[in-house]
Order: sequence, then structure tokens, then C-alpha cells
Amino acid sequence: MIDLVALSKDELGVLLASWGEKPFRAKQVHGWLYEKGAADVSEMTDLPKGLRTRLAEETVLGAMDVAAEQRSKDGTVKRLYRLADGKLVETVLMPYADGRRTACISSQAGCAMGCVFCATGQMGFKRHLTAGEIFGQVWRQHVELKARGERLSNVVLMGMGEPFHNYEPVMEAVRRMMSDLGIGARHITISTVGLVPQIERFADEGLQVGLAISLHEATDAARSALMPVNRRWSIDVLLEAVRGYVEKTGRRVTFEWALIHGTNDTVEVAEQLGKRLRGVHCHVNLIPLNPTGGYAGLPSDPGRVEAFVETLGRYGVPATVRVRRGIDIDAGCGQLRERVLEAAP
Ligand code: SAH
Ligand code: SF4
Repeated sequence: MIDLVALSKDELGVLLASWGEKPFRAKQVHGWLYEKGAADVSEMTDLPKGLRTRLAEETVLGAMDVAAEQRSKDGTVKRLYRLADGKLVETVLMPYADGRRTACISSQAGCAMGCVFCATGQMGFKRHLTAGEIFGQVWRQHVELKARGERLSNVVLMGMGEPFHNYEPVMEAVRRMMSDLGIGARHITISTVGLVPQIERFADEGLQVGLAISLHEATDAARSALMPVNRRWSIDVLLEAVRGYVEKTGRRVTFEWALIHGTNDTVEVAEQLGKRLRGVHCHVNLIPLNPTGGYAGLPSDPGRVEAFVETLGRYGVPATVRVRRGIDIDAGCGQLRERVLEAAP
């Protein structure tokens, strides 16, 4: 079976040409898939019956099944998809009161980076997702929202996996989000653990796509204990690459910081961070830790969070506390899979 959604516009043209179809048929099918948001070939009513039959017999739309779904009281919907080879990946859809609809998608099954606090890191690396599998998660949300008269407005690559460890497929999928689904580059954000060569490469792409860096600690000893990647690229080297990115693109970067009670949430750590980020064109996103099975850390108390923000402010570093969305449904990265496998391994 061919996954039609996994094909780029050119590949779709090549497939239909190989079936002896005229070029405008590929345009028609493309229009149905993306502008009109067809969820099934049977909806493509202006195609000749023969072509529709062949498409129905030889292709599928989006090669993934929903293995589990959870809905939060705050409207967040978390999905676990089963890929063609049985691997499980998560997508989260977050609706906001101002009308934004943000999809948080995965770039790999598992992750090789081994951050100790992360449920995906705890499971290890399974495999890279293809560009079609990455794009397919977004396409599916796009189609479902469209059917309800809503529009997918934003995408963040903050689900399972390290996007820059799967660089080319991620970039191909991002380009298709823009060209096929009309999602603006500024509404797409890639979050990375801090792979320096890829940050440098990304700076040269000439895209307005946002960049978020997972920092979480302000000294090398502390960061290496949480995030093994820090042993390869120290904080100094990482921040040098970030400065280069800001200089080249003129864009502000986001730093992600999971606040862990008594670990990286003290005023002393906030001061270390403030000193390091002073003068960097950035914003810090603070998010109280989502506890996971393989790590004993707990989220910070509200008082600590407030003091952390205030301290960063004294260094001129803007920081906001992110609301933990879908906390009642384990919406943290990798956590739904953990639950499902516990119930039925
Ligand atoms: N691999 C990429 C993107 C996926 S993780 C990265 O690490 O940036 C998305 C964000 O969730 C990262 O900032 C990551 O550090 C954070 N995260 C992972 N586990 C978490 C947890 N248990 N609680 C809070 N944030 C977590
Ligand atoms: Fe991988 Fe990101 Fe989790 Fe680290 S935080 S293990 S890089 S998914």
C-alpha cells in the first residue's frame, strides 16, 4: 500500500503519471488531500471512477492507526499512534481560548539522548520517523480540525524524539507543513536538546521557523547529570552556537527549563542562568516538571517558580511560566505510551 499523504507534490505527480493519468489529475488529488482536507478517497467526487477505485485499492491516507486517546479537562487531546511496523508515537493537540490550535508532534520513536527526567529518553531509541510519518501526524490534525470548521494554526516538534537527530526528514516534513498545509514558518517551532552542528546548519536554512533549546541547568556538571548530550557539547559551546544563530537569523530563541524541586529551581541557579543568558536575544519558558516513572524528581512549588522568574528578571532575561497542559492525562512527552504499555505490554 502506498501512503498518499507521505508523497510530496512531485512524487504524487510521478505516481499518477506512472498510472497513465494526465498531470492535472495529480493537482486535483493534491487539492482534495490538502486544501479540501479529504479524509478518504471516496470524498474525491470529481475524479473518474476508475482512478478512484485504483486509489482506494492501492493507497492509504496516512499510514497510522489511533492506538489510544485521552482527553483532558482543559481540552488537550493526546493521541498514541501505531505506525505501520507497530511502533508507538504521540501527538498532542492543544486548543487555546484565543483560537489557536497547536499540534505537538513526534520526530522519532523513542529517543537516543537519554535525558534522565524524560519518559521518552527512559525508553531508549527505537527508530527515526520518515518525513511522511512526521508530516502525517500534522496532516491528520489538519483534516480533523477542518471537518469541525477549525484550523490547525501552530506546530511544535516537542513530542517524542530529538528532531535534530533526524534532521533531513524533519526539515522535509516542515517544508511540507508550509507548502501543503499553509502553516506559516513563524507558527512552527523545533525544540532541540542542543545538537550544535545541526543548530549551525539550521541557522543557514533561511527559514523563519522558531528554535527552542532545552537547557534545564546552568553549570556543566549539573547539566551533564541530567542530559548526557552536555558531555559532548558544553553549555559554553551550545550558547556560542545559539548566539551565532541569533546573529544570522535575527530571531529570538526560546530556552526550555523544566523546574525540578530542589534541583534547578533555586535562586542561586536562577542567578547562574541569568548571568549566562544576559544579553542573549532570548526568552525562557519555565515548566514545572512532569513526574515520570523512571525519575524521582518532583515539580517545583509555586513560590520557587515565582522567585526564579523574578531573579531572571533582575538580569534582564524575560521568562514566563507555561501552564502544564493536559496534566490530568499524562500529556508529558512519552508518558501516554508508558501508560498504554503498562496496561497491555
Ligand atoms: N528532544 C527535544 C524535543 C522533545 S522534548 C528536546 O529535548 O528539546 C520537549 C520538551 O519537553 C523539552 O524541552 C524537554 O526537555 C521537555 N521535557 C521532557 N520531559 C519532561 C518532563 N518530564 N517534564 C517537563 N518537561 C519535560
Ligand atoms: Fe530526547 Fe528531548 Fe526527551 Fe531528551 S528531553 S530524551 S532529547 S525527547
